[in-house]
This record gives sequence, C-alpha cells and structure tokens, in this order.
Amino acid sequence: MNWPLGNIETLLSLLLFIGVLGIFLLWIYCERQDNVRLCLHWKRSAFLCHRCRHIYEAMRLPKSRDGAPCPRCGTENTPLRF
Ligand SMILES: [Zn+2]
Repeated sequence: MNWPLGNIETLLSLLLFIGVLGIFLLWIYCERQDNVRLCLHWKRSAFLCHRCRHIYEAMRLPKSRDGAPCPRCGTENTPLRF
C-alpha cells in the first residue's frame, strides 16, 4: 500500500510545517491586532526603590514612563536607565 503519509519522516515534516505556519499566522495576527498583552510587547524593566533600596523587576510597556510599585514597601518608582 502506497499511502502518502505512510512514513514517519513525512508525518514529522508535516507537523513541523504546521507548527511553523501556526507561529507565523499568530505573529501576523499580533501585528495586525496590536494587542499588547497577547503579543508580548511588555518589557521587563529594572527598578531601584528610592525608599528601601530594593532592586526588582517589573513588566511595563517599552515607551511608557509609568513606574512600578516596590514589592517590599509599595513605593512607586521609575525604571532604571542604563
Ligand atoms: Zn521599596
């Protein structure tokens, strides 16, 4: 019997192709939707608390000037710039 999906290499290639195609379509969808939460446009930034000197990381939008609250004391801090 000569079935086109008979051997494992063909099946794995097809699955890999479907996976790559899925990621590509998701990327296109994200670019068009501009959905910041879904599309991981959030960036991790480092913060230094000016009150308790605790260094921590938090997620924020790349161009926003918003701060993030310190997990220890709750003080709002601006991101560190390098
Ligand atoms: Zn603090």
